[in-house]
Amino acid sequence: MTTNTLKSDITAIVGDANITFEAAALASGSKDSFHFSPVLLEDLDGKSADLIVRPETQAQLVEIVRYAVANRIPITPRGAGTGNYGQGVPMQGGILVNTKKLNRIIELTSDYARVECGTVLWQIEKQAAQVGAELRIFPSTMPTSSSAGFITGGSGGVGSITWGMLSDNNNVRAVKALTIEAEPQVLELTTPEEIRDVLHNCGVTAFVTEVEFALAPKTQWHQYAFAFDDLYSALAAGEKLAHNTHILKRLCSVFEWPIPSFFLPLVKKEACPEGKALLLLMCNLEPSELVAQLGDFDGRLTFHAPPVEESGRGFQIYDFTWNHTTMWAMKTDKQYTYLQDSFDKDNYMEQLRARKAKYGDQVLTHVEFLQSNGEIRPGGLSLVHYQSREQLFGLIDYCESIGMRISNPHTHFLDADIRWYGDYLLAARKRWDPNSLLNPGHLRALEE
Ligand SMILES: Cc1cc2nc3c(=O)[nH]c(=O)nc-3n(C[C@H](O)[C@H](O)[C@H](O)COP(=O)(O)OP(=O)(O)OC[C@H]3O[C@@H](n4cnc5c(N)ncnc54)[C@H](O)[C@@H]3O)c2cc1C
Repeated sequence: MTTNTLKSDITAIVGDANITFEAAALASGSKDSFHFSPVLLEDLDGKSADLIVRPETQAQLVEIVRYAVANRIPITPRGAGTGNYGQGVPMQGGILVNTKKLNRIIELTSDYARVECGTVLWQIEKQAAQVGAELRIFPSTMPTSSSAGFITGGSGGVGSITWGMLSDNNNVRAVKALTIEAEPQVLELTTPEEIRDVLHNCGVTAFVTEVEFALAPKTQWHQYAFAFDDLYSALAAGEKLAHNTHILKRLCSVFEWPIPSFFLPLVKKEACPEGKALLLLMCNLEPSELVAQLGDFDGRLTFHAPPVEESGRGFQIYDFTWNHTTMWAMKTDKQYTYLQDSFDKDNYMEQLRARKAKYGDQVLTHVEFLQSNGEIRPGGLSLVHYQSREQLFGLIDYCESIGMRISNPHTHFLDADIRWYGDYLLAARKRWDPNSLLNPGHLRALEE
């Protein structure tokens, strides 16, 4: 098929205001945030869709899928493009469907929000506040991130210390999705087993059209920074708070020096004293209550503020946590990249000490305390001062040799990594996308 035919056929479905086909716009619109990995930056350079389309209704989306299947054209879903693994990159060209106009909040009560796939999480948080509710978990990219992009491309984030990850606690109550078939079926997935087949798999099984998130009661949060003489005291303090179930928490994040020096807005507020490790917290305690909780530790309160209620004004404490930490490091020094490390929860300080002894400041520790499968544990988003692929993959091997588990964010292949969940994903893809047209090129098992 010629590009002109593709263009005129898709224009007939959505109108010409909703398609992009200029080379420069296609190139930039096809990228996601894989530039966080120097390896992916090389591997995914130059991959581009043939056309970007922005459907305004789910009916238009069904038409686009029907057309793509009839003509055997790859189709790649796209939210805000903040995913870091390159798994939103259209490896085989075709149609990239940007969902930003599918952004209706369908139903919102104090218990749940049902939204269209492109709804930005910040919109849900704002609407939920009107009924005394808030999101349970969200990525630190919440001001821009789409709902379906989060459940398919993300894993957890702010709030995960209390509510766990996407697959925990019914955090995602239901998902509506489209199959990629000649006559697309509309799936309503409601059990954890059904939802599992679309969760955290980067849109390789079905096109998510609606998401139903469980909400939490709105809490009056406080944001804090505490400085400690060394990383291990900050970790011990964080661990104590993380395990205290009487404290409501959204964040409990620890950073080794010099990471706090990268957080320029916090540095300006004198929250990051030279040489000190930092603990960032979002919790419901008043300052005096928190200081009392941390009395056993030699920490100093350096920052306290309520969250900012409007986007685009000031900063939130979560702007420095999760993978935003890497973003601040990269702003200071482009050589920084990151690892997603998972530690032995009973032995993690020893693991960190061993790694420090071997790698020194090539690796800087960033820990997010979180809950997963009902267990509180430290999860790492460690910074790596990148030198070469050999250094990076040697480091990953070393971490695994001392019992850490690394979810490798430097591959776009889902099945080249421990994020791979096995055969049920392939089975769902076969069932719902028999021609392998949905976001192809990210599963080695199907490439070979
Ligand atoms: C600075 C920074 C901080 C981050 N912090 C976090 C964090 O705290 N927690 C976290 O989990 N992630 C985090 N991420 C990763 C990412 O921001 C989130 O996962 C985000 O929710 C992705 O949403 P998006 O709309 O940008 O998705 P996109 O990047 O557009 O898409 C992500 C994946 O989902 C697929 N997809 C999108 N829409 C659909 C759909 N409708 N149906 C099927 N598949 C679809 C895409 O094909 C792609 O594979 C961070 C990224 C950055 C750059």
